[in-house]
Amino acid sequence: MSRAPRIVLVGTSHPGNIGATARAMKTMGLSELHLVAPERFPDPQAVAMAAGAEDLLEQACIHPTLPAALAGCHWVAGLSARPRSLSGPSLTARQAAQHLTHLGEQTNAALVFGRERTGLTNEELDLCHVRVNIPSNPEYGSLNLAAAVQVVAYEWRMAMLDGPASPVEAPDTPGTPASSAALENFHAHLEEVLAEIGFLDRGNPRQLMRRLRRLSNRAQPEVEEINILRGILSAIQGGRTRRPGGASDRNV
Ligand code: SAH
Repeated sequence: MSRAPRIVLVGTSHPGNIGATARAMKTMGLSELHLVAPERFPDPQAVAMAAGAEDLLEQACIHPTLPAALAGCHWVAGLSARPRSLSGPSLTARQAAQHLTHLGEQTNAALVFGRERTGLTNEELDLCHVRVNIPSNPEYGSLNLAAAVQVVAYEWRMAMLDGPASPVEAPDTPGTPASSAALENFHAHLEEVLAEIGFLDRGNPRQLMRRLRRLSNRAQPEVEEINILRGILSAIQGGRTRRPGGASDRNV
């Protein structure tokens, strides 16, 4: 049985949308609401729109930044109404919901929704493993924030009721997936080393780090794999050389 995903709202400006999101979640059996720097919260308009889902508002966690809201998450999906050229792999809401049913009980997932006016920034989408779109009218495709949450929460509920769509292949000794924080530390370390060896020109970085992030996000690396990669980076920097498979807990 997979775990229910957390819903993360980034920079919400209208408190009514936070309340309507709580209602949308509770009707579909979701309960974990995380808010990143909401403009107005708590607020009576949020309570009014929650209409019986105030408990979710009371328990909502408020974070200053998106990485803080993603702490402990292993699979992060960014909901976006807009196609972007370098946004990485993309799923429909239905495909994302089906993917969620395949995740193990130990895997924490997050569904991230953007601001009413401007959505998610490219930097925020870079923190997501996949971009998720609700297929909609190409000429008027942007749903109200809480309506988008409702659609995705409904798809999650239907996918859970149906069970995993196809038998999951038994992975060979699955390891623990690396957390978002471990991946971020790896990306920071990689950027540092690439600059040191002159491969990355910080004055003219182009899209190098974004492309490398795409690669590692797509690969969904495990803790031990990230430790190996960090060991290689340290060795390049002239630090201690680490044997492959050597125990290390520094990057977990
Ligand atoms: N004008 C913004 C849209 C913001 S709507 C933009 O162009 O990005 C607020 C949020 O609802 C979005 O950031 C996204 O998370 C979600 N959303 C709205 N419509 C969506 C759609 N068709 N597919 C996926 N997410 C959508």
